[in-house]
Amino acid sequence: MLKEECGIFGIYGISEAARYVYLGLNFLQHRGQESCGIVSTNGKSLYKQVGLGKVTDFFDEEKLSYLEGFKAIGHVRYSTTGSPTLVNAQPITGMTSKGAIAISHNGNITNAARIREDLLKKGVVFNSTSDSEIILHLIAEAPSSDLVQSCKWAFSKLEGAYSVLVLSKDMLIAVRDPLGFRPLSMGQLGMTLPEMVHTIVFSSEDSAFSIIEATKIRDVEPNEMVVISEKGLESHNITDRKIQKKQCIFELIYFAKPSSVVFNSLVYDFRFKIGERLAEEYKIDADFVVPVPDSGIVAALGYSQASGIPLAMGLIRSHYIGRTFIEPSQKIRDFGVKMKFIPVRKIIEGKKIILIDDSIVRGTTSKKIVKMIRSNNPREVHFLVASPPVKNPCYYGIDFSTRDELLANKLSSYSEIAEFIGADSVGYVSIEGMFKATGLNKNDFCKACFDGIYPTRIENVKKEGFEGEIKQLHIR
Ligand code: SF4
Repeated sequence: MLKEECGIFGIYGISEAARYVYLGLNFLQHRGQESCGIVSTNGKSLYKQVGLGKVTDFFDEEKLSYLEGFKAIGHVRYSTTGSPTLVNAQPITGMTSKGAIAISHNGNITNAARIREDLLKKGVVFNSTSDSEIILHLIAEAPSSDLVQSCKWAFSKLEGAYSVLVLSKDMLIAVRDPLGFRPLSMGQLGMTLPEMVHTIVFSSEDSAFSIIEATKIRDVEPNEMVVISEKGLESHNITDRKIQKKQCIFELIYFAKPSSVVFNSLVYDFRFKIGERLAEEYKIDADFVVPVPDSGIVAALGYSQASGIPLAMGLIRSHYIGRTFIEPSQKIRDFGVKMKFIPVRKIIEGKKIILIDDSIVRGTTSKKIVKMIRSNNPREVHFLVASPPVKNPCYYGIDFSTRDELLANKLSSYSEIAEFIGADSVGYVSIEGMFKATGLNKNDFCKACFDGIYPTRIENVKKEGFEGEIKQLHIR
């Protein structure tokens, strides 16, 4: 099972801004559930509330009331570098010579170790173990008193993936790295009410806009820095070099909600077409197509429609099991998956089943799911995957395992993978098939986890971030 990365949401120019961010973060909760936070400003001070856990668990009326002002940014986090402790919860804040600023970051900075080392040598003190704090210090040390110029300078030093929101007392800045790994959309609220004309919203996923009745204007472009202030909206380039964008194809495969338009593609359409393509690549005689809920559902619909094999919900997902569910001992380790998926015997027993999931990473969850299906006596179980085989780790903010743990890297043939997970057969959509079916230009996308071609230099990126010297346990 994949773990998500982070979600960011911000709004400029409306009273009770933090409450809008609270709603936006709720929508983005699927992108990270370990910690959450909001920073707001009334133009005089920054107000901050960050904590561990989900948005609805952490925030209450008292915390939201504290977050004054007309501008706010927020963050939901799954730790891809740095541990899930309170020090790493975002937005991170700091006092700089350019005033107090807050930062929400989605992505992974691949030259973070080198920059951090340089900053430490200069005497900079770090308060967290995440790569995101580097952005704050670079902005602080930039050789300009102007925040916009300082941001431009700081972001031009970074390599890797970053969609970032920066909040100061006067402005909200939204940035997407030059390769555009992670999505970031811009919307506007209240077009019909004169007093709201300048309310601008940013979100990792545009379908969050509908919750607050905002409408999408456009995406923040790769290499773009959008500045919203009293002066209105300005757009700057981070670098003047022309760079080929490399957006993360996994946002479409798995992370984003089907209702979101990510990199100009509706996620629902993308997954449906992958399902249709799987039906073209793998013609299997079966009674039912069964999705692994939720992320396999749309691809399964596509397969079902293209093949004429009926779709049946042979696995029901419980939405009440959080990622923090504690598996009490090795002996009952399977309970985690069993609590999450319940098989429907009437659909499975005596039938030939095609299971469809979004991806296989280590293969342990797929194995448990097939075992669960098998315990309901199907005639055959075929496992189709709506992504190409994941063979390489991601350094841009997605928590894949190390290369040695990736199943498609450990086992060379689909028949070996089928044997490992206990299925009669296994099939993955091909890389060419994925781009052909969806009509996307493969040059515009990072697909390094499939083909091993990384679009940036990779320097010493560690899952554990920069921790080790100060340990702290926060009990909620
Ligand atoms: S390596 Fe894979 S998951 Fe990571 S950014 Fe590239 S496509 Fe996305």
